[in-house]
Amino acid sequence: MQAAHMEIKRRLEEQRETLKAELAEGVTRAENGMGYGTHQADDAYFASEQAADIAVMRNAQRLLYAVEFALSRIEEGTYGACLDCGKPIDPARLRIIPYCNYCVECATHHQDCAT
Ligand SMILES: [Zn+2]
Repeated sequence: MQAAHMEIKRRLEEQRETLKAELAEGVTRAENGMGYGTHQADDAYFASEQAADIAVMRNAQRLLYAVEFALSRIEEGTYGACLDCGKPIDPARLRIIPYCNYCVECATHHQDCAT
């Protein structure tokens, strides 16, 4: 494994734990109905809070997939190559978005690399 990938792997693992914690927290909140307004009259507020929560969780879930996928690619030794065109991804780009699996051009067709 390349030295640069060791550092990226460590960051990805950290990010994975953070995302898992976020998701676990979101699920607990959704199950208990906690963290939302307690006033019954606040239905609209409740609904919008819940919708925001779901959006955050969807985003976290999507990121988690990308992070886990990037980690598996580091293990396989395929990390750093664009999934679509196979060209090497700019290392500077990977330092900013380590879970990114696409080069700049191909990323326009995918959401993985959204910052
Ligand atoms: Zn590409």
